[in-house]
Amino acid sequence: MPRPLCDSVYLYGQHDPGGERVMLDLDVPGWIVFTEALGFDPNNTQGRNYSQYSDKGLGVLVRLNAGYAGTGTLPFEQYYNDFARRCANFARASSGAHLWIVGNEPNHPIEWPGAAWDWSAQPPKPSSPDQRGEPITPERYARCYKLVRTAIKAATGHADDQVLVAGAATWNALLTYPGNTNGDWVQYFADILKAIGAVNCDGVTLHTYTHGADPALIRSEAKMAAPYQNRRFHFRAYQDFMAAIPQEMRGLPVYITETDQGDDPWRNANTGWIRQAYDEINAWNLANDQKIRSLVLYRWPNVASDRWGIEGKQGVIEDLRGALGLRYRWEIAKDPQKELEARLAQLEAQVKALQPEVDKVAVLAAAAAKLGATSVALGQGVKAVDPAALRERYTALAAAVTVLENQLPNLPTTGVPQPAMNDLRGTLPAGPGAYPTRPVKGITRVIVHHTATRGDITPQRLAEVQVQQGKPGTTYHFLINENGTIHWMQPLEVATTQTNRADANAGGIAVALAGNFTTAVPGDAQLNAAAQLVAWLLSQAGLKTTDVVGRRELENVASPGATWNTGPKYQDTLLAKAQAILDTSKDPYLVIQDLQQKLAACQKQLADLQAQMGPLQQQVQTLDATVKTQKVEIARLLDQLQGCAGGKVARPAIVDKVDTLDKHPTLPPYAERTKPISLLVVHHADTPRTTTVEQVAHYHVYGKRANASGQVIKAEWPGIGYHFVVAPDGVIYQGQREGTSSYHVGGEPNNYSLGVSLIGRFMVTDNSGKPQPAAVQIPTPEQLRSTAHLLAWLMQEYNVPLEQVKGHRDVWVGATSCPGETWKSGLRWYDMLVKEIQAVAQGNPARHMEHYLLFWDHGTDWAKTDWAGAQKYIAHFRPTTGFSTDDALLARHVTIVGGYAGVSGEDEVRLRAAGVDVYRLNGATEAETVAMLDALVAADTPWPGAPAQTARTDAPEPLIRGLTGETPIPDSSVGDIASPTDEWTVPDDAVPPPAAPTVEPGASVRIKVLVPPPTGPADQ
Ligand SMILES: [Zn+2]
Repeated sequence: MPRPLCDSVYLYGQHDPGGERVMLDLDVPGWIVFTEALGFDPNNTQGRNYSQYSDKGLGVLVRLNAGYAGTGTLPFEQYYNDFARRCANFARASSGAHLWIVGNEPNHPIEWPGAAWDWSAQPPKPSSPDQRGEPITPERYARCYKLVRTAIKAATGHADDQVLVAGAATWNALLTYPGNTNGDWVQYFADILKAIGAVNCDGVTLHTYTHGADPALIRSEAKMAAPYQNRRFHFRAYQDFMAAIPQEMRGLPVYITETDQGDDPWRNANTGWIRQAYDEINAWNLANDQKIRSLVLYRWPNVASDRWGIEGKQGVIEDLRGALGLRYRWEIAKDPQKELEARLAQLEAQVKALQPEVDKVAVLAAAAAKLGATSVALGQGVKAVDPAALRERYTALAAAVTVLENQLPNLPTTGVPQPAMNDLRGTLPAGPGAYPTRPVKGITRVIVHHTATRGDITPQRLAEVQVQQGKPGTTYHFLINENGTIHWMQPLEVATTQTNRADANAGGIAVALAGNFTTAVPGDAQLNAAAQLVAWLLSQAGLKTTDVVGRRELENVASPGATWNTGPKYQDTLLAKAQAILDTSKDPYLVIQDLQQKLAACQKQLADLQAQMGPLQQQVQTLDATVKTQKVEIARLLDQLQGCAGGKVARPAIVDKVDTLDKHPTLPPYAERTKPISLLVVHHADTPRTTTVEQVAHYHVYGKRANASGQVIKAEWPGIGYHFVVAPDGVIYQGQREGTSSYHVGGEPNNYSLGVSLIGRFMVTDNSGKPQPAAVQIPTPEQLRSTAHLLAWLMQEYNVPLEQVKGHRDVWVGATSCPGETWKSGLRWYDMLVKEIQAVAQGNPARHMEHYLLFWDHGTDWAKTDWAGAQKYIAHFRPTTGFSTDDALLARHVTIVGGYAGVSGEDEVRLRAAGVDVYRLNGATEAETVAMLDALVAADTPWPGAPAQTARTDAPEPLIRGLTGETPIPDSSVGDIASPTDEWTVPDDAVPPPAAPTVEPGASVRIKVLVPPPTGPADQ
């Protein structure tokens, strides 16, 4: 009968079948690793029968591949779902297998779909640029693994299967990616596990080898050259992987599914290499909690184009036979308490791993709840999340774990303390021969005797008498005198002839009370001592008071006296006293049981919490987005209000992120400024538009860069450098308090300036040097408007004149291109910004278009007839013409063509609310609308009451119009990356040059006289 998982209890194994006879002959059924090319046709339902192996007790590990070389161990990413379906079909149709490995060595280009490489090149390279293949990044692998695992576990009869993570190609450094620029295989493996997460993983597989046939290499600690100086070069590379497994995954099974002697074929000799290798893994298992369940030799058969076959190499097989004789198992006898400790430690690690998630949700929820009030005020009910309740639950759970943990070290090893006694074992008179011995765990009861002598008889005298009667020694294990003294006379392992019944002697401990209790009963001192002793014995042997008998209950004798169970029944007194002692010191078995129950409850709570986390985060995200939109809307309304009030610039809506963005864990915080604010510095973040303020902060805190000559040009910083960050959607984030002298412009000016950074890269080329479309070379209209509002307000609050609003590059000329080349050349967004600032300062947000002719558009159905009919009007007045109400919001005047079934009344209200002058040409029929347009042409007025000539002289600004509605282009070099690295900054960011910078004409004298200190940090 195979085990439920069709696994093996032994460490031994062979890659591919064919050599199992060697294991079976020695009755050590180990593992066989099968590798299958399944393709990824979701309708293919073929499987394979492995029962002929598992029925013999062999462990079956099946590696699931889409295919080999070129096809990819995993298919192209677009087929992951199909592949997962195929794997599940295969598992369902197969028998005798429940352990599945998803793919093989995914960091090795030979396993990538579409790859064809020249392996003779040094270093290897794709045979042609389009034959690199699709790299299996950690994110891709994790995604595919999770799909396959979910699909297999959903197949009937496979819910408890183990789906295992593929072994990484050890020492292969060809897959590099941001965050792992050296292609470190161990980090790749760790990144995969991190991306999969403990709750989605059943176990991992590893590959390890020596470089050569010398058995001494098994235990070699030799390391590699830089930059891999921390990586082992031989068999113990497996320990590098083990160390990289995240704490919360240390309970998972590990399988080594490939090992051999390296690049060379197996040397056909019995070198002891195989024995040493199994010794090594067995030693690991004895010393470590995370067990390695297999060490599989690669490989048994001789396969064309693969030189590692063992079959036929008698020397290697002899070595293997020797190793099998050691019969190493991965299952090691378990100490329940240790196991419990390990499980608690795992649980605690899981709870800890959850903590940042919980924190994040709580912070987001708090922010959303705060802003949610605004939305409620706007009449849009938003369901609020209660972060306090979540936090409370989490805290309670963490506390429960701590309590459980604290109980562990105090767990009594014995429930009842050992009473004081005279240990006379081995010192008393003995006769010829010996009693048989027994294991202590075979003890089943305590048998009480009396000695029928004086109550102060000595143990020596008693033993002497019994030896004279021909016994090998005293029959009593313990003697208790009338004064309460306890003597330990025989070891518990000795099965004495204390009764005439062999069965009673085999499992009994003899406790003798000195005295004769035919009519009298033992005194208090003697009874109390007996109760202490009995309670201790019971707790040691795991017995209850019902397991205590008088000898007379077993056979027809007087001992321990008639008063034992008749008349006064001192049995009852004794056992009541013993029970009381047992009650006050708890049975360790019960403590463990209790602990286990608590643990289970705790685990359930944790699972509940995890289940809640996903939807909750989603809810918060939605909420966050809603509130963000509302913030923009509110800002717009405030702008308008400002316009009405005139004079003072209202504070724009600002999302306060000062307390939530990354801070450096060890660096001291930024200093407070010592000079008043007299300069506002505009930056670009030099990132794709999709970058978030959190990512910018993360980079500022942790990013490090050096230039080509090794000089540090960006060290780790205490926090984000910018005081304000403006996102492409116009949302303004505050990163630092205005009083903080953070790093952004560099040098002394940090002390008297505020940094305002716009997310984006306002350069003519992207990060990889390719030309960027004009639309992304400058800020979005929303971004520009918000920045202008912010700057206008800051100018007012700090009394900073417009000429002191400068680009980073204006402050340190020649040191940086920030905020981009288009700042004051090319598209010149500085000019646009100034125009907007002036408009805001005058209480008049700028309108970019004079006149917008707005048509309706309902997808396939649109204002075809109106459009055609308006051509004369368009030719005459040249309005900006289009279908977007959002675009129209930027115009001073909008002419809507058609009735309310086209452009809705709601849109018209929006336009009016934004201060746009609106006129609707609403003919009863389309023909009538066209007639109205023609009439306006004839009257030479674009709308009734329009100022003369306005339409023709004020052409729309093409650039801004082109920008509206532009989809941000993702930066291709960044698209795949979960968290940004310093790679996405461009090398335009050297520290200010050592010479005093030249300052552009018009800059204030204060700046002119300052020379940057050598270490004055600047942003990227
Ligand atoms: Zn800058």
